[in-house]
Amino acid sequence: MSELASIPPTFRDDVESILIPEAELDARLAELAAEVDRDYAGKELLLVGVLKGAIFVMADLARYLTVPSAMDFMAVSSYGSSTSSSGVVRILKDLDTEIEGRDVLIVEDIVDSGLTLDYLTKNLRSRQPASVEILSLLTKPSRREVDLPVKYIGFEVPDVFVVGYGLDYAERYRSLRDIVTLAPSVYGG
Ligand code: 5GP
Repeated sequence: MSELASIPPTFRDDVESILIPEAELDARLAELAAEVDRDYAGKELLLVGVLKGAIFVMADLARYLTVPSAMDFMAVSSYGSSTSSSGVVRILKDLDTEIEGRDVLIVEDIVDSGLTLDYLTKNLRSRQPASVEILSLLTKPSRREVDLPVKYIGFEVPDVFVVGYGLDYAERYRSLRDIVTLAPSVYGG
């Protein structure tokens, strides 16, 4: 299948379709970085990446930004190998740095129910930063369970499970360059 040419052959049978190709992800991240640059002109940012899904968003966004930025990471409990939210959030790895008085931008791969980021923003706000905003590459608005202001959004996606560009299914497919959907056979279908 020529439309899956960018997928390594070992993964090709697992991929149903490419939802957002690499070039579109890259172009959108450049646009988002330009917005962030404008909004934070004259300031210094602390980018807080949510492990592990946000690693490539973080890497590409940070390199497009021209405002000075530092990076830190948090890990919270997520889906494991299942594909629906438990709503239970646990901090597995906290920040290395103090954020009091700093401008914090949370960098996330996808907002689904919003429960994870709702918890995370409240948690970070309690540490008295100057500001906390959210940037997410993807959002599934139809799935939202809490009212969560996401300041910077890359793409809206439908209610389908996606992988690639950092997003996994049972720890696989993170390294794919595109955002893709998986064939039903992957889920045992
Ligand atoms: P929320 O708390 O917003 O429901 O879930 C956010 C987290 O769920 C994301 O950081 C991600 O780890 C996971 N997630 C939600 N939707 C998807 C999806 O379509 N694909 C993958 N791989 N993970 C997802």
